[in-house]
Amino acid sequence: MIRRFAVLLLVAACSRTAPRPTPAPVAVARGGDQAVVLVSLDAFRWDYLDRPAAKNLRALAARGVRAERMIPSFPSLTFPNHYTLVTGLYPEHHGIVANTIRDSLLGTFRLSDSIAVTDARWWGGEPIWVTAVRQGRQAGSVFWPGSEAAIEGVRPSRWMKFDDSYSNPARIDSVLTWLTLPAGKAMSLVTLYYSDVDHAGHAAGPATPAVDSAIARVDSMVGLLVRGIEARGLSGRVNVIVLADHGMTPLAADRAIFLDDYISMNDVDVVDWSPLGAIRPKPGKLEEVYAKLKNANPHLAVYRKSEVPARFHYRTNPRITPLVLIADDQWAITTRARFAARPPSGGAHGYDNQLSSMGAMFVAAGPAFKSGITVKPFQNIHVYDLLCDILGLKPAPNDGSMDSTRMMLVKPK
Ligand SMILES: [Zn+2]
Repeated sequence: MIRRFAVLLLVAACSRTAPRPTPAPVAVARGGDQAVVLVSLDAFRWDYLDRPAAKNLRALAARGVRAERMIPSFPSLTFPNHYTLVTGLYPEHHGIVANTIRDSLLGTFRLSDSIAVTDARWWGGEPIWVTAVRQGRQAGSVFWPGSEAAIEGVRPSRWMKFDDSYSNPARIDSVLTWLTLPAGKAMSLVTLYYSDVDHAGHAAGPATPAVDSAIARVDSMVGLLVRGIEARGLSGRVNVIVLADHGMTPLAADRAIFLDDYISMNDVDVVDWSPLGAIRPKPGKLEEVYAKLKNANPHLAVYRKSEVPARFHYRTNPRITPLVLIADDQWAITTRARFAARPPSGGAHGYDNQLSSMGAMFVAAGPAFKSGITVKPFQNIHVYDLLCDILGLKPAPNDGSMDSTRMMLVKPK
């Protein structure tokens, strides 16, 4: 029922009236001859690209394209945005509305729940690997949120159960092997994921040597990937897109918002904590809790679900909680007890997606892309259509378009 509801919303939300470019005749379509490696460097903020350690990424941008920044979708969290990148759908349309989600039928979804992440009922829309496989291509995943579930009954041609201890260079070996399989088996699309920069940013905060070290580690993997593609003679076929899901901002113990200063915690169920406070008041308590929290703290925005500002695209999914709290940049939502156990420190993300601190990197190079250009900030809902265009795939209905990415390409459709 939830999925049917989501689909109905999607149909209603996707403007089918906007004219789309007329598809090129099949004879001149690129379809089938190009491939993409889609690399996510979790929490690689847009401006990290100019930190000294990002040498290989800057070299990739110099011979391809970079965005001033890519704007994540709200909430600027890992699972919602990885799944937006591969579906072109806002989180309210694909259903992964936070990292922790409660659904009246399915129960609770958590990142750490290895069973829930394989349950296709959580994942709405159509990820790019399903689009590719359904249209006769091979698509592989060296990790990506959603890749372990049989969405619409389809899994990537090859995929792996998430194991962050799987070494960074071994991931590159898998990608290169899959790109060079015999004709008919070689991948048109492979996703690749690294968590190093996210872990360092959370632990130490963005402006730290720990993040520089993590940038150096993942940047060296980008170099290994690019050299491996060149060494195998694949440079004329394989495009590399390196991006992130969101940015990172610093936390401090003197920037805490204590919910229990304003409400009784017995009156609410907190589904997700901070900086997106996903709050289910207990039966009959909604208006009382709302009244107590609204305007209680100058660094906390408090919305009834129906009043969440339209630009967040965060109202329609039944999994969105009745109250949505959003902390100001660099602030944390907590309680006195939670604070005592773990005061805010290091870094966080999940804030207003338009904040500069939440902006993500986007770099791409290869035969589909122009060389040496920088494009204006664009939203990550547009990446799915971009992938489909390069791969010559017909996109599933989605929230994006080619309007902000078409100028990157040598020969857009
Ligand atoms: Zn992330």
